[in-house]
Amino acid sequence: MTRYIFITGGVVSSLGKGLGSAALGALLQARGYSVRLCKLDPYLNVDPGTMSPFQHGEVYVTDDGAETDLDFGHYERFTGVPARGMDNTTTGRIYTNVLQKERKGEYLGATIQVIPHITNEIQDFIREKDGSADFVLCEIGGTVGDIESQPFLEAIRQFGNEVGKDRAIFIHVTLLPFIPAAGELKTKPTQHSVKELMSYGIRPQILLCRADRHISEDERSKIGLFCNIERENVIPALDVHSIYEVPLTYHAEGLDRQVLACFGLEDKVKPDLSTWENIVKNVKEPESEVTIAIVGKYTNLADSYKSLNEALTHGGIANKVKVNLKFIESEIFESEAPETHLQGVNGILVPGGFGDRGVEGKIRAAQYARERKIPYFGICYGMQMAVIEAARHLCGIKGAGSSEFTHCEIPVIGIMTEWLKGNKIEERSKDEDLGGTMRLGAYPATLKPGSKISQIYGTTDISERHRHRYEVNTNYREQLEKAGLKFVGLSPDGKLPEIVEYEDHPWFIGVQFHPELKSKPFDPHPLFVSFIAAAIDQDRLV
Ligand code: GLN
Repeated sequence: MTRYIFITGGVVSSLGKGLGSAALGALLQARGYSVRLCKLDPYLNVDPGTMSPFQHGEVYVTDDGAETDLDFGHYERFTGVPARGMDNTTTGRIYTNVLQKERKGEYLGATIQVIPHITNEIQDFIREKDGSADFVLCEIGGTVGDIESQPFLEAIRQFGNEVGKDRAIFIHVTLLPFIPAAGELKTKPTQHSVKELMSYGIRPQILLCRADRHISEDERSKIGLFCNIERENVIPALDVHSIYEVPLTYHAEGLDRQVLACFGLEDKVKPDLSTWENIVKNVKEPESEVTIAIVGKYTNLADSYKSLNEALTHGGIANKVKVNLKFIESEIFESEAPETHLQGVNGILVPGGFGDRGVEGKIRAAQYARERKIPYFGICYGMQMAVIEAARHLCGIKGAGSSEFTHCEIPVIGIMTEWLKGNKIEERSKDEDLGGTMRLGAYPATLKPGSKISQIYGTTDISERHRHRYEVNTNYREQLEKAGLKFVGLSPDGKLPEIVEYEDHPWFIGVQFHPELKSKPFDPHPLFVSFIAAAIDQDRLV
């Protein structure tokens, strides 16, 4: 029997609902239950694929090729359960489905309305999860009170009534702001937020109260009294130093125990939290530190590289070092010399990106890393930039560029119009919708035996997640390999370059995929472990 936990948020956005849901998932797993996490996003985009990382943080790609919200990254990193496209929906998707059915005449002439048609479609999305796990944790994006959230709240209310109290509970995440003049945490916004939720007919059983300092027992009792919630279900969720402490701190405050109590389940097994204890120990007690420069475009919003930052942290955990990140806007290298900003860093990483702003700076960063023998990790766009750099400076192809650039004389990076997915040929063209033309999701690659990359992976067959439109043009392979840049990973049909590396460089690897999406604190990705290890070695050299 699947039980449902709905998680809503109030007072302000960015309270860490996604992280909280993920941490609760991890705690339930530690008690031996299976979990699935899903998310309902009230915005109108059909999926986050076309949203700017500036506004919304990174787009997280699943194995099955769905472009989802960055919270899915938290879900996977905390629970290890691979997310699927069917785990995420949005207002845009729900309306698209309903309107398609309406056009096909599936509603038999009925007048289509938000209630029941939209709310039923939302419930169908939730119901699809039935039987897939002991617990389904379903996060509602946005903040209670937003116009867009209303149909979702109505739908989960109806759903909760239908399955009954012993199969569905509601957790509300709120904020207790500290007002310095009064010298206390304020509970009023939480009271109002709960009142708002109740006006939709939802009474939360558990409140997860975010605060930047200790919440006294008096305050807990007061919130419980005013919000009609048992005091022990008012759970303090204080700020922590590392996100990986969250499962432990929530457990210490009784979150998982109270969740089980709400379902009438006994608290009989002591959860095994040793994995999280070890991770936190390594985060808190590093033996040394390294600095990695991330040369990119969206560097002023940390969330736009969320998975990348986490994967680097995981590489640090595995090597028992603290990884300091130095974000550098690549455009700066178009006017200033790379050494001004890169001197002293232990590794350089050029992450994924789109468009041609700042590309010349990324190419200069790759050149600097190659020439100075600093560990270089090029991810997707970062690999393409390294290839262009080699073409220009090692092969003498001056006009080398990507057909993604506004001006490109010689496309060493270009559009491949077709490629294989399993036995099926997929196609893309430059003129299609932005959402529909990318190579998305997990694809296999074959690694060259004896290459550095095959040693790092410990195998020659891998599968990694992709999200890109352009590919390295294999017409230049021979020239590039002669110059030292080896094509050490290819798609199984040999048509698409997946990985390049220099043999005579301590660590210079470019990958066409996004390894950061699969890294977990308890299962760090081998490429990040190896990159950080190379950065540590580099540190010994300087
Ligand atoms: N813009 C490049 C492409 O579409 C790289 C994409 C990426 O880095 N994710 O191929």
